[in-house]
Amino acid sequence: MIDYQLLRARSFNEALEILESKKNVRCLAGGTDILVDLHHKDEFFDSVDYLLDINSIDELKGIKLGKKEGEIGSLTTHSEIIENKELQEKLPFVAAAAASIGSTQIRNRATIGGNLVNAAACADSFSPMIALEAEVVLVSKRGERRLSIRDFIKSPYKTALAEDELLKKIVFPMPQGEYYSSYQKIGRRKAVSISRISLTLLAEVKAEKIVNIQVVSGAATPSPVPFEKVNEYLSAKNLAEVDSKEAGRIAAEEMVEITGRRWSTPYKQPALSKLVERAVEDMLEEAGYNG
Ligand SMILES: Cc1cc2nc3c(=O)[nH]c(=O)nc-3n(C[C@H](O)[C@H](O)[C@H](O)COP(=O)(O)OP(=O)(O)OC[C@H]3O[C@@H](n4cnc5c(N)ncnc54)[C@H](O)[C@@H]3O)c2cc1C
Repeated sequence: MIDYQLLRARSFNEALEILESKKNVRCLAGGTDILVDLHHKDEFFDSVDYLLDINSIDELKGIKLGKKEGEIGSLTTHSEIIENKELQEKLPFVAAAAASIGSTQIRNRATIGGNLVNAAACADSFSPMIALEAEVVLVSKRGERRLSIRDFIKSPYKTALAEDELLKKIVFPMPQGEYYSSYQKIGRRKAVSISRISLTLLAEVKAEKIVNIQVVSGAATPSPVPFEKVNEYLSAKNLAEVDSKEAGRIAAEEMVEITGRRWSTPYKQPALSKLVERAVEDMLEEAGYNG
């Protein structure tokens, strides 16, 4: 029997007061994860007495991209991310990840904050945010703290969010100078695909040399992590020396080191290898090295 009370916060402060004063409260943003859990997993709601609708809180909305730092409010929907022209231009991999999520109906409701707090291994917002070295801003009546996305995610479906905290926004340094990026995903079905494997590549290039690179796994590993060995292989390489197949091979090997050999390895290994190869080729093509 599912028995919970629905509350609506009219302001940011009211939401924080409710989270402080009541136990077993869960926020309701787009509801595309939590309402599915409500209908499918009764035991999940044993620990939920209140659903707190946060949709009227303006402080949680919007995208601001400054010269040095950018931020995305937690209530920003995936559709708003895709439609933001400045973001499309400056952070195309973030828009591509958002565009790959679910269907139009899902993207119109579902938020980036919900995606991160739900923390499914296949959540598509993690790899672009880790590549950007983003931080989450968590607020409660006790104050505000910032955590790197990597510290925020503890394990699949577990984050460092405390019971009385709201995820306010995601902040990140804007990529500087000459940079190239790619977002890649293989899903289950075309229209509404939860990713099986996804990744983000973000590379900063100076005088045709890669000076900073982040290749970050999405659903390929239990939690999204940078592929350190691929990053090492690509770091400090001149673009003309980059072998995309070799980068793919290294990534596939590294994935197995992280996950161990599983029933899905014979499928995932070549698939990931190909995705990394494509991401590297995207970078080379964008930079004018299309072989
Ligand atoms: C058909 C379908 C297809 C989907 N496809 C994809 C896909 O391709 N890729 C993908 O990554 N996901 C997919 N999803 C999952 C889901 O849509 C996303 O994870 C979505 O971004 C969740 O956002 P939401 O606003 O709906 O979160 P909600 O369901 O409202 O909330 C999710 C969790 O986050 C918490 N929460 C939300 N906002 C805050 C906040 N500001 N502060 C504190 N806690 C908060 C809630 O309490 C809850 O625990 C799909 C879902 C469906 C139903």
